[in-house]
Amino acid sequence: MGTKQIFLAQTRSNKVTNKTFIQAMLDPNANFGGLYTFADITPFTDITKLYTLKYADICKSIFNQLGINLNSNAFEFALQSYDNFRSKDIAPLVKIESNLYSLELYHGPTYAFKDMALQPFSRLLDSIAREQNKKYLILSATSGDTGPATLSGFANSKNIKAICIYPKNGTSQVQRLQMTTQSADNLKVFGINGDFDLAQSTLKELLKNESFRDSIKANGYNISVANSVNIARIAFQIAYYFIIAKELYKQNIHSFDVIVPSGNFGNSLGAFFAKKLGLPIAKICIASNPNDILTQFFTTGIYDIRSKKLKLSYSPAMDILKSSNIERLLFAYFGADKTKKLMESLDRNNYFNIEKNELLKIQELFEAKNFSDIECIEGIKDSFSKGYVIDPHTSNAYLFAQYRKQKGKSSKTQVIISTAHFAKFAKVVCRALCNLSNNDLESLSDKELLHNIISNITTNHRTTLQIDSNILELFDKQEIHTKCYEANTLQKHIIEWIKQ
Ligand SMILES: *Cc1c(COP(=O)(O)O)cnc(C)c1O
Repeated sequence: MGTKQIFLAQTRSNKVTNKTFIQAMLDPNANFGGLYTFADITPFTDITKLYTLKYADICKSIFNQLGINLNSNAFEFALQSYDNFRSKDIAPLVKIESNLYSLELYHGPTYAFKDMALQPFSRLLDSIAREQNKKYLILSATSGDTGPATLSGFANSKNIKAICIYPKNGTSQVQRLQMTTQSADNLKVFGINGDFDLAQSTLKELLKNESFRDSIKANGYNISVANSVNIARIAFQIAYYFIIAKELYKQNIHSFDVIVPSGNFGNSLGAFFAKKLGLPIAKICIASNPNDILTQFFTTGIYDIRSKKLKLSYSPAMDILKSSNIERLLFAYFGADKTKKLMESLDRNNYFNIEKNELLKIQELFEAKNFSDIECIEGIKDSFSKGYVIDPHTSNAYLFAQYRKQKGKSSKTQVIISTAHFAKFAKVVCRALCNLSNNDLESLSDKELLHNIISNITTNHRTTLQIDSNILELFDKQEIHTKCYEANTLQKHIIEWIKQ
């Protein structure tokens, strides 16, 4: 690996941090409530060289360029996790129609884009923990995709215990089974009575709680988190954008727009860093659902959640009010002092705004638009009419692509980022593609809904699809983590569990 080693920046302070990437990965909370991030990214001098590399080697080049120096055995072991993906391309680029492509990020073990980062992330953390002879407790809150990916990544890691907190009735059946059927001893799943907001705020409270931290420490464990506040997550979310450039380059296409279904803005931030590294991304388009806070910010420069309430939508992984990685974007554009001011205003007043000229600067690269649940269903139908089945999150990106095409906004190649396999969201996809009553949609199991989708697809002869055996097997596995918890009792339960 390269020789230079950089310290990370922090979003709310100009002081040099002396924190390496690994230190930030193990302890992701920076001073003043800020986040660790990359600063002064140097673009590759000859980016086309990367287009000849395979996925793992692209990752290595990116880490090297970012000044991240890792023990090469640990890094190698982490990157080997991609060998377990169902596609040898890791993130295949599929053509939907003329000038429109889909980058499929759901070929990892839990069928959503979270695997792209959490598979290597968990192996890297596991290696470091063993190397340091330390034990870690990894916490995560999930609306349905981070949880399964975290559990899958850390299952049976010797020095690690992993916990995920999820809203008991807030996920699809497949998502729930991916968590509750996990049998490894080092994993614990807490289904709570409440929504994702409560799961996330419970996690934040626990992380701030001194007596909780002390008890965990007293039991020999250090605490880290698997959510995208962890900079290591973001670092592993850059390489797949290079696959787009690599594949399009073969067809003599040298510039493209990406359209990202966004929630916490971690995936889009990966695109932003890829652009900083020199990748020819013309526009990064942010697709939102009825929770339109990101669209509001990128179109008006105002981030105002004073009168907003979280809405439960058909694309739950994008149901968000406070989008954590916006902080890293603000830092990249405006530096630490301004970011500190804006984020403290958000923390205190649920509001901030940037100046008109600052917004124009951001809009040179970013566009945003939000879509309703009704439109989401239409998007799934429309894409299917072209022979391509998408999940409800991806549908928001698909709709944005079609909108831009109609408006003549893009003469260029557009690439939608497909963040989940449709089988994770059987109910919504069935609502779009099958002729079932509301009653049936509510009462049928995901297994039955998936069979409905498949038989419908096959009768329409538009495309042939099968449900993967890994998903079908879930329905026959025993659910182990079945208890429902009150959020305010988790501290006690986690400490009891860590003692075992
Ligand atoms: C997590 C997730 C998103 C949102 O990604 P962010 O990085 O939080 O913006 C979108 N779609 C799916 C399916 C997800 O799991």
